[in-house]
Amino acid sequence: MNTGIPIEIIPTPGQTIMEAIEAARAKIAPIPCPKHPKEYLQLAWRRTIETADFGSHFRPGVSITPEFESCPCCKLIASGVGPEDSLFSFDNFPRDVAAKIYHTERCREFAACPHGVLLLMGNTGTGKTHLAVAVMREFVMNNTAQPLFISAQDLFTKHLASLKAHSFSIQAPSSPIPACQQAPLLVLDDLIPLPIKRDGEEILLSIFNFRIQHKLPSVITANLKPAEIEEAVGSRLYDRLRGAAYEAIEFGFESKRHLNRPEYLRRCKEEYEQNKLN
Ligand SMILES: [Zn+2]
Repeated sequence: MNTGIPIEIIPTPGQTIMEAIEAARAKIAPIPCPKHPKEYLQLAWRRTIETADFGSHFRPGVSITPEFESCPCCKLIASGVGPEDSLFSFDNFPRDVAAKIYHTERCREFAACPHGVLLLMGNTGTGKTHLAVAVMREFVMNNTAQPLFISAQDLFTKHLASLKAHSFSIQAPSSPIPACQQAPLLVLDDLIPLPIKRDGEEILLSIFNFRIQHKLPSVITANLKPAEIEEAVGSRLYDRLRGAAYEAIEFGFESKRHLNRPEYLRRCKEEYEQNKLN
């Protein structure tokens, strides 16, 4: 929870207290996120009003303490996105190839009103995860509900760990399937040919049957060509996804990840220096 400095509000003659509180709203300056200084925190107005302290009748005014939402990066990290990837947005997606402009626009349209399944396919390092996170970023900026980002590898590993026998003294880890089914927006990253053929297909079917039935939007990124998808995930799931696909976008470019290396190393160095001083 991020809070600002308390503000004393004194109504002007003829103004009600609530009008004075409402008028104060525009004067509350946004504050930067303590962890991501480039991101500003949005004012949580309803929660701020709840902090109103009307004090005693010896005091003419009212005091409110501004409450702020977490920044989009913090929200993305809380949703399962890695700290480095949490910086991804539509604005910083490199549009160096004409096709990427189209891809960005289609993903922006999806982000404006997420519905169905958005499928992003193609080589590794071509920006699929970047655009999937950008869609999530729009979601956390427009909604209070928390989306979920999970890699296919993590999903299978965590689910299998939940099935293993555990001694009574240890609490067995829970399966991520219910959270994947119910998330208001799910990003399943890096879908791979299923490691455990039949069980893997059942896991994905139970997630996507639920989501499609309940009209919950999903984004899937896959290092696969369109022709390989059916073989990789099985015919039943392929058919379900096809029936609910918002669009299947193919990323047929070369990997550009190595171009980010200088910037990535600069941030690593900066963080090391900062932690050393703390
Ligand atoms: Zn933050």
